[in-house]
Amino acid sequence: NDLASMMDVSVNDVISTCLGLGMFVSINQRLDAEAITVIADEFGYEIQFISTEDETGVEESNDAEEDLQDRAPIVTIMGHVDHGKTSLLDYIRKTKVTASEAGGITQHIGAYDVITKKGNKIAFLDTPGHEAFTAMRARGAKLTDIAIIVVAADDDVMPQTKEAINHAQVAGVPIVIAINKIDKPTANPDKVRESLSKNNILVEEWGGKYQCQEVSAKSGQGIEDLLEKVLLEAEILNLKANPDKPAVGSVVEASLDKGRGYVATIMVQAGTLKVGDIMVAGANYGRVKAMFDDTGKKVKEAGPSTPVVVLGLEGAPQAGEKFQIMETDREARELAGKRSQLQREQSIRTRKHITLDEIGRRLAIGSFKQLNVIVKGDVDGSVEALSDSLLKLSTAEVQVAIIHRGVGQISESDVLLASASDAIIIGFQVRPSGSAKRLAENEEIEIRMYSIIYDAINEVKAAMEGMLAPQE
Ligand code: GDP
Repeated sequence: NDLASMMDVSVNDVISTCLGLGMFVSINQRLDAEAITVIADEFGYEIQFISTEDETGVEESNDAEEDLQDRAPIVTIMGHVDHGKTSLLDYIRKTKVTASEAGGITQHIGAYDVITKKGNKIAFLDTPGHEAFTAMRARGAKLTDIAIIVVAADDDVMPQTKEAINHAQVAGVPIVIAINKIDKPTANPDKVRESLSKNNILVEEWGGKYQCQEVSAKSGQGIEDLLEKVLLEAEILNLKANPDKPAVGSVVEASLDKGRGYVATIMVQAGTLKVGDIMVAGANYGRVKAMFDDTGKKVKEAGPSTPVVVLGLEGAPQAGEKFQIMETDREARELAGKRSQLQREQSIRTRKHITLDEIGRRLAIGSFKQLNVIVKGDVDGSVEALSDSLLKLSTAEVQVAIIHRGVGQISESDVLLASASDAIIIGFQVRPSGSAKRLAENEEIEIRMYSIIYDAINEVKAAMEGMLAPQE
């Protein structure tokens, strides 16, 4: 209806055009961007999207070259449980806290600022585990510049290490390896390097491209060197932001505090956030009443790559949602209102994620070119065999990409990865865990389970054939 009135044509014409394109729609149906573009084109219109999400300009800003300044990298530490993620971050923070003022480690706020001995700044996101990392990404946040993957030297590359590597790679985030617990008598860093190489992570000492540092989160050995390596990686990325504009960034975490109202930890990614600014974060808004840095000190301003705790929002936005600054309360309220309405509608109506059945429709209306698949199976051999056969289904028009494969139950982490990457999950002789199943239902991720490889391949093949772009 909206689209028809914008184009000044009858609703029936729009609906019949949709039908002609294989879309069965009602008058109140909300269409996705691809569909709108194609339909408008049929009526001779070109669509320009002014998205409520992308106006934040975090990723692609129109800043002039001379307005850009270097900014600190934002780093996430990931790895297998008990390999020392928390200890490593605690050690890094402790040096900072004692170096500035007394007070010890302050409360957990989810993101911290660190100054290295040479005076360089690094911002750390304390998102426990790669699930949080990917959940954030699923909401659109491109918050992490570099991932430190921790592997314990007295252990080995473990399933969650592999997952963390995978999640970082799918996100296109460079990896620095930290081989931790090097102080332990049982430490065997070479074994870790060897295992990493078997997982396609060849470290620099072995002629590969991945920087790697042996560290001890207990004694602090190697940690300064690790930070230097992170900074080197950052230099290659040439990270820049314009500090002289209204702030944009992402929400790290948010909660309701009894005394202070809604409290949100946010990461400023560009511009400068000031007390008094009117903020929209996801579907929430409010005036910034007060701001605190990661040591709990009151601040008036926060520039790029700075985490701050913000008071004044009238609700708790979700981790990974973007924030921006508006000129007036009214604009802020309207944008937040529009977003919450969109969120409500989306959760009821549109199927956001790919399914085998959805493939044909997407191809008919858009330029769907890649089917992302996550393969989980009971044993290595079948996972390999199934993945290889699926890859072979790729054609010139449509590629199959196995973005993650592994042995074992389908986990929540698999579902989050699928959600962030718009993938389907194929399980061979395995099922999802209870929580993964619930999450998949919520996130509308398709999980297909098979006990015969042939069936799996045939079904995907059939869907792919439906999705082959019409040949000219
Ligand atoms: P996380 O689950 O990855 O966050 O791991 P933790 O930081 O909680 O560490 C797990 C355990 O390993 C804890 O008992 C730590 O004290 C211990 N640990 C972490 N780093 C080191 C280290 O460098 N050396 C030694 N000896 N123990 C460590």
